[in-house]
Amino acid sequence: DKFKEGLSKTRGSFSSKINDLVARYRKVDEDFFEDLEEILISADVGVTTVMDLIDELKMEVKRRNIKDSNDVKEVISEKLVDIYYGEDDETIEDLNIHHDGLNIVLFVGVNGVGKTTTIGKLAHRLKNEGKKVVLAAGDTFRAGAIEQLEVWGERVGVEVIKHSEGSDPAAVIFDGIQAAKSRGADVLLCDTAGRLQNKVNLMNELSKVKRVIEREVPGAPHEVLLVLDATTGQNAMSQAKTFSESTNVTGIVLSKLDGTAKGGIVLAIRNELDIPVKFVGLGEKVDDLQQFDPNAFVYGLFA
Ligand code: GDP
Repeated sequence: DKFKEGLSKTRGSFSSKINDLVARYRKVDEDFFEDLEEILISADVGVTTVMDLIDELKMEVKRRNIKDSNDVKEVISEKLVDIYYGEDDETIEDLNIHHDGLNIVLFVGVNGVGKTTTIGKLAHRLKNEGKKVVLAAGDTFRAGAIEQLEVWGERVGVEVIKHSEGSDPAAVIFDGIQAAKSRGADVLLCDTAGRLQNKVNLMNELSKVKRVIEREVPGAPHEVLLVLDATTGQNAMSQAKTFSESTNVTGIVLSKLDGTAKGGIVLAIRNELDIPVKFVGLGEKVDDLQQFDPNAFVYGLFA
């Protein structure tokens, strides 16, 4: 239900456009597909993904001999899910944090996308699952980032390891790991800085943090989650490209999906970059982080 509520903007815009399309065209012809293409692109599905999708749809409509535009709706949902998964198995992708000992999740992303908020919400989720969680305040650059993480730590009742503003993030993460180990924690969530103005420095800093993690905990980081702001559309897409070129991003958190009518970006990210969307942010509150379920997402758009 949270999922449905959070998607109301996208659903409102998308389903009314599709219904309108179906009402305008009784027959499924070339013009129908052209209009559908436009609707999908305007929902930020992404041009490449839309082209693939339209091709698939045309083939399926022909194969099933569908003539009535109303019957295409079902096929559209099916193909949207198919395009999300591509060649992969259709499962909901869980976080890779179920190893014995300490599991480490590294968060990356540009300032303002919702990184700190996501860490707070995820800490809450994991704690509710019975895990012992520690946070490391690795964003030592943005003014207020450390305090903001501390507020979240207090809110959800987990410990935050920090140094002062401007200190070396790799040293904070190192201390975070030692603290998490000595407390017998299951998961350490690491915040990092997100200034993209100086891309080379940022990427070097991330590499250094990653090296510390790899050295201290074999097999870690178990997840590198890139947080993207759904309301920034194609900008989010280019951030995803930048980060995935320099770091091994294992999953995406798409924040602020509640704030956009263009939720189609989810499909584009997975289809074009082949990185799974593991969570979506659907609001600013502590329980507004949901595991991403492509089926629920797509069928929710038409509900
Ligand atoms: P950071 O700079 O990446 O750490 O971003 P913050 O965590 O400070 O988030 C920036 C703003 O986005 C804050 O005002 C958050 O409350 C807001 N925000 C984060 N996630 C969501 C979300 O899923 N939905 C909405 N509506 N707002 C969000």
